[in-house]
Amino acid sequence: MQNEYYCPHCKTPLKIDKHIILTVKIEKYKGCLILFEPKLGDFKIIKHKDCQFKENIHVDFLCPVCHENLSSQHENLAEILLVDSEGNEYEIWFSEIFGEQATYKIKAGKVYNAYGEDQAKYVNHFGSCPEY
Ligand SMILES: [Zn+2]
Repeated sequence: MQNEYYCPHCKTPLKIDKHIILTVKIEKYKGCLILFEPKLGDFKIIKHKDCQFKENIHVDFLCPVCHENLSSQHENLAEILLVDSEGNEYEIWFSEIFGEQATYKIKAGKVYNAYGEDQAKYVNHFGSCPEY
């Protein structure tokens, strides 16, 4: 069993085959689907050529099934659920600023691991685990 990712609202699995699928929006009616790498720290994305966002703007990530906003308690971070191959559950928080590379693996409000060149930006929002 590999890592599985879920919508925190409707619990639908978001990873299909080799990618995580999310809806990304900048305005109520303007958005697109983007495929993300399930490997934490890999920030490559796949999107349609018509799906263009400027770098450094705030986007909203939505569940493609229930359309709930995946925003977290931090204004610039979104959140999905991860269940790893051993059945351990984590929250994955990631930047909603397009082009920013900051992802956090969170357990009980504390950083278990952080990824990306911009991770220092928000890491203080969390407490840290002894092992981090
Ligand atoms: Zn959902």
